[in-house]
Amino acid sequence: MRQELEKIKAEAANNLKMAECVDNLNNLKVKYLGKKGELTSVLRGMGKLSEEERPIIGQLANEIRDELNLILDKQLKVLKENELNTKLAEETIDVTLTGKDFAFGSKHPITKVIDETKQIFMGLGFEIAEGPEIETDYYNFEALNLPKDHPARDMQDSFYITPDVLLRTHTSPVQVRTMNKKAPAIPLKIICPGKVYRKDDDATHSPMFHQIEGLVIDKNIKMSDLKGVLLNFARQMFGTEREIRLRPSFFPFTEPSAEVDISCGLCEGKGCRACSHTGWLEILGSGMVHPNVLKFGGYDPNEVTGFAFGMGVERIAMLKYGINDLRLMYENDIRFLRQF
Ligand SMILES: [Zn+2]
Repeated sequence: MRQELEKIKAEAANNLKMAECVDNLNNLKVKYLGKKGELTSVLRGMGKLSEEERPIIGQLANEIRDELNLILDKQLKVLKENELNTKLAEETIDVTLTGKDFAFGSKHPITKVIDETKQIFMGLGFEIAEGPEIETDYYNFEALNLPKDHPARDMQDSFYITPDVLLRTHTSPVQVRTMNKKAPAIPLKIICPGKVYRKDDDATHSPMFHQIEGLVIDKNIKMSDLKGVLLNFARQMFGTEREIRLRPSFFPFTEPSAEVDISCGLCEGKGCRACSHTGWLEILGSGMVHPNVLKFGGYDPNEVTGFAFGMGVERIAMLKYGINDLRLMYENDIRFLRQF
């Protein structure tokens, strides 16, 4: 029986030390030390032993059990530590790996022109005003001195929602709305950027486009103030060497009215293909606010005067960046957009 026990001890000790994982170790524990284990089954045969042998063998068995338990605990510790180390090694982040590149976009040329225009006019003390894109006939036309039968309405063929509600054809209704809110407070200095809609669609027209309008109302506002502000804008937007000129024109909401041209940057005014050999490029429309519009806005035309101007953002962007087709700006071709 002693030999049997020694044999179990040697085999168990060896196997426990060789155990490769915790599961394996647990199985061995059951096999040798469990209730139905080999050690226990040997001890069941103790009854056959003599009175003298029994305590000696019993003590030996206990010693073997203790020893095997020690080996088991030690091996369990080793295996758990190995498992942890393996896990840590697997989960290690390699900080030397290069990161993934983020693709940075760029601002759309229209957004850039709007942002830059806002900056220029805020620098001149203007505030930004906004209004709805779905507008009433009253604010879009009537309050701007364009009564129902006015022929100039034909210049702005519109998308109507009902006979009295339409997509605004210009940002001018924002001027009236702001006047209504602020009148008779002076000075009023605003610019109104935003989307407008007309029934046009070709290489130089889009049914949706962007405008920025400006309005100044105060005592003694003169045409020369208009020219000074626009010259300042043109030079900040296009370059300090630029000149502007005002040509007489007609708009129902201004009197007198003027088209504003900027000297051609390519030929410096000498004349080239870009400027149709005139040396000038049209950039916006402007004028002194019509007394009727002042009245609709809530101002007394005998007390105050004002000037207004409106420009197409796409037109400014095309001139500034040398873009020759308006539609490029709406195609979202990344090769085009990356250039700005
Ligand atoms: Zn030119």
